[in-house]
Amino acid sequence: MEIYLSSFTSFLAEHLLGVVATLITLVLVYHYLIEKETGAKLSKRYRNSIFEAQSKIFLNATQYLISGNKDLAIKEFLSAVDINRETIETYFALGGLFRSNGEIEKAISIHRSLIARENISESHRLRALKELAVDFDKGGFVDKAIETYKDVLKINRDQYEVIQSLCRIYEDTEDWDQAYNYRIMLSKVGHQNQAETISHILVQKAKQYFEKGEFKKCEEDLEDAFRFAPSVSAKILRLKLFLVSGDMEQAKFLLLEILKEHPMYASFIFVSIDEDFKTSNAELKETYKGRLEILRKYFLEMNDKDLVNSASVVLSKVRLLKESGMTQNAFDLLKEWMDNNKHSSEVMKVEYIKLLIELQKKDEALVQTKGLLENLHQTLAKHYCRQCGYNSDSIFWRCPQCHEWETIQFRWKV
Ligand SMILES: [Zn+2]
Repeated sequence: MEIYLSSFTSFLAEHLLGVVATLITLVLVYHYLIEKETGAKLSKRYRNSIFEAQSKIFLNATQYLISGNKDLAIKEFLSAVDINRETIETYFALGGLFRSNGEIEKAISIHRSLIARENISESHRLRALKELAVDFDKGGFVDKAIETYKDVLKINRDQYEVIQSLCRIYEDTEDWDQAYNYRIMLSKVGHQNQAETISHILVQKAKQYFEKGEFKKCEEDLEDAFRFAPSVSAKILRLKLFLVSGDMEQAKFLLLEILKEHPMYASFIFVSIDEDFKTSNAELKETYKGRLEILRKYFLEMNDKDLVNSASVVLSKVRLLKESGMTQNAFDLLKEWMDNNKHSSEVMKVEYIKLLIELQKKDEALVQTKGLLENLHQTLAKHYCRQCGYNSDSIFWRCPQCHEWETIQFRWKV
């Protein structure tokens, strides 16, 4: 089905005007026949003159098409459509075709002319307005798209797709206040629970305050985020706030909680809380670093049974130990884990080989490398989206490709 559709679409793109010509001819013929059947009210002469006019326009248009003058051909077609008031569907079809063919300006002018018509039903006008908004959106006219989507909502608020489009635009442009408002609206119109997503949006908003050093405001938005859903990103931001305020006991407790819930996120947590935050306050930066160091030590000494068995926790510890120059400790930790887990992943093996080389254990390094190379799989990037497969080394709570929230999956990079 998918294949048929896509080849149909590319067929349309290549033969757009041909298809439109056929379509309009069919519509004209249909109307001619209908009028012929039920045309008791119309005199024969009148009927014939309409048909003649239509045929003439069609012939002209075809000539323009043959001579390659697309614009004039389209103009002829449009005036043909004008003769029959009932052919509004043809207008919509034409507008849609232009848009999908990338001829946004033509689509816009068709939809605008529909909206401006006097003898059009309100539901058709609303539909034309929606189409116009999509034209602007697809054409990259963001401000006009926003304005037109909002105009649609002024007429009828119960428009799931329109609200969804506004959500996407505001999330793309990182206008989190508006993203929040429209996400709330979406949760009211649709019957899908948006709590997780709303929580993420509020965390993004809170993050902006954090980066600016406005911790009080950050705290407030974060509280709101927790009211919707205790998402991982919310917890990590709270951890950062504890480091700022110096509540080390709370920070340790929260770290343990996140790790137990999501051991996969171990290395990610430390990357996130270590991100430079843009403050001009050098003293605060120093204090923050010091407290982060305390938290790291706490993590390295953590001996919780559930966590010791997690590969990602072990790997995070190994990497933190290496960073602090404690290569031997890193090696001991990893060796113990490798001895207990015979079928470890390639990433663990690579890390192990690196440590062997660093510690000059050449023979063992050779044996391990040989084993690894024999069944090495290529790994791509650190993270990927489980919804659409998007790959990235950076962290994304909202997938830049499919716009879903929290679909990020971790893959250890070799
Ligand atoms: Zn995705």
